[in-house]
Amino acid sequence: MAEKTFVIIKPDSMVRGLSGKIITRFENKGLKIVGLKMLKIKRKQLEELYSHLIGRPFLEEYFHYMRKTPVIMVVLEGMNAIDIVRKMCGVTNCRESDPSTIRGQYGMSGRMNVIHAADSVANAEREMNIFFKPKEIHRYKVPLTQVMYSIEEMQTMGIQKKVLLGRPRKLPGKEDE
Ligand code: ADP
Repeated sequence: MAEKTFVIIKPDSMVRGLSGKIITRFENKGLKIVGLKMLKIKRKQLEELYSHLIGRPFLEEYFHYMRKTPVIMVVLEGMNAIDIVRKMCGVTNCRESDPSTIRGQYGMSGRMNVIHAADSVANAEREMNIFFKPKEIHRYKVPLTQVMYSIEEMQTMGIQKKVLLGRPRKLPGKEDE
């Protein structure tokens, strides 16, 4: 199955009207939206999401900022989605982020840094489960997948091949039907 990752469009992006631009970047990259919701994060949910930050001096101010406005949460799917999205976001401090990244392009702060993105398979799963019920993560076919990935890549993700571009060819170990 293709990998899923979890992102939050943070309050600074919400008040600056950046959510569409950010989501468009992911769509243009070829990542598929399989979950999306808007909500105001509860304090308890923040403590669960950021358990690794408990005890850090900036925590209270950070949580205050994260609860300033409702945020948009998106679950994205694609091959190596977690790594790709982290790279697209850039490093934590927007000022140090490469200007081609989302944080580098849109932010100026180390705290108000535009977007959150899961950093591992285990965390993506854990974070998604805090905010999404299993039935809120959708499964649907995107015909363009067939021209965005090679046959081998689609096989890795468990997607049936239907060759629209390039010549169909036999994969090693596959018998003729
Ligand atoms: P990332 O979001 O890049 O994975 P962390 O998980 O370490 O980074 O931190 C979560 C969030 O806490 C960051 O995105 C940022 O908004 C905030 N943060 C992290 N470190 C600091 C810091 N030293 N000062 C202020 N805010 C910070």
